[in-house]
Formats: sequence, C-alpha cells, structure tokens
Amino acid sequence: MQTLVDTHAHLADSDFDADLADVLDRAKSVGVGRIVAVSETLDDALKNLRLAEMYDAILPAAGLYPTYLDFDKAEAMVDLIRNNADKIVAIGEVGLDYWKIKEPEERDIQHKIFESFIKLSIELNKPLNVHARSAGRHAIAKLIELGAKKVQMHAFDGKASTALPGIEAGFFFSIPASVMRSRQKQKLVKRLPLECLLLETDSPVLCPEPTVRNEPANLITALEEVARLKDIQIEELKVIIANNFHRLYDITL
Ligand SMILES: [Zn+2]
Repeated sequence: MQTLVDTHAHLADSDFDADLADVLDRAKSVGVGRIVAVSETLDDALKNLRLAEMYDAILPAAGLYPTYLDFDKAEAMVDLIRNNADKIVAIGEVGLDYWKIKEPEERDIQHKIFESFIKLSIELNKPLNVHARSAGRHAIAKLIELGAKKVQMHAFDGKASTALPGIEAGFFFSIPASVMRSRQKQKLVKRLPLECLLLETDSPVLCPEPTVRNEPANLITALEEVARLKDIQIEELKVIIANNFHRLYDITL
C-alpha cells in the first residue's frame, strides 16, 4: 500500500499529550505512515525533535508562527534549525498573516522575519512549510523575489489566479481535509495541477467536522475529496501525491 503523508500537523500541541501513540496508530491503520510535525514556537520545535526520536512516523519541522513579531525569537529559531539541520525536514510553519496582523509597521516586522526563514531555506536546501492567511499574493511574491525553490503553501486561502505564479515557480499546495466543506478550496483544487498537490490535516484544527479535534487519520477525507474533484482513482492519486512529496522533501517513503 502506498504510504500517505500528512504534510502539516501540530503534534506538539497539548491536545495530543494524552493519546499521541493512539493517534499515530489510527493514522497508520489507514495508511498515513508519516506526518510532518510543524512548530509554532521554540518549545514546539524542541518537542517535535523529541517526539521524532520516540516515533518513526514523525518528521520534525521547526518554524516560528507568523503572528510572533519578535526578532529575538526568530533568531533563536534560525539557530535551532541550523543546529538541528540533519534532523529537521522542513522550516515551518512560517509566513505571513494579514488577517491577524493589520498595522503596516507590524507587517513590516513579519516580512523581515519571513525573509530570514526564506534565506535559511535556500542556504540549507530545506522546504518551507508556509502559512499565508489573507496574504497569499504577498507571500508568493516574497518567495519568488528571494528565489525560494522548495515551497509548500499550506491550506492556501486565496484564489487559483493568486496561486498561479507559485505554480509556475514550482511551489506545492497542501490541501486540508476541510476541503470537503470549503467552496474556496474545492475551486482551488479543481484549478491546480495534480503535480503540485500535497495533503495535510493541520491537526488539531481544520477538522472535516468543525469543533471536533482533528487528527492525521482524517487525511483520508482530503484524499477522497481531491480524488473526487479531480475525477481520478484514489490509488492513482496516492502515487502522484507520494511522488510530489518525494520531489519536495527528498524523503523516500
Ligand atoms: Zn498549521
């Protein structure tokens, strides 16, 4: 069976403290054999590294969530990533959030911090796992401007026309399970080429059922919905998505 990868989940979240082993078992039982564990803070990033030592399924990522407008924290995160570059599979989640951050001076800080992670991604040849909320156009423009090569836009909330320059630049777009209840994401999936698609859950949030804790096993919902929207057999889609994952992450499943 072709292994599936949840390419964006917050397994360091305290929501998973009590039953992470069960959560990973349930994921494995439906074929979700690997999970990219993103971080929001330094504590999360360190926890991801510890969890990855305990569980083979966990691929640790490290990044500072874009609403933290703190140069010291960003610098400490850059150091942490450099010092653990042999273990960390991606830089994320990082990016721009114009929904929460509205003041021009604050957005300026956000851009500078994002730039430091983009430069690090190029230096270390690591994929960026990017959050862009109400800021898709700006995030894609910044990534292209700085020459980012390995990019995953997570739960992209923009239009397909906004995504287009990213597709042309070879960026990937990870589709969350909440696609089954989002008209915007359904339209996006229809327009995006299969060769740029990845799947994610963003657990513990973005559950197919709102208000319920999300978990990586629900990646199957995203897989089934994308297969339906693209009118393609599930097994065929799994192979394409696994190839996409390999092209971006250079990890053999
Ligand atoms: Zn996230």
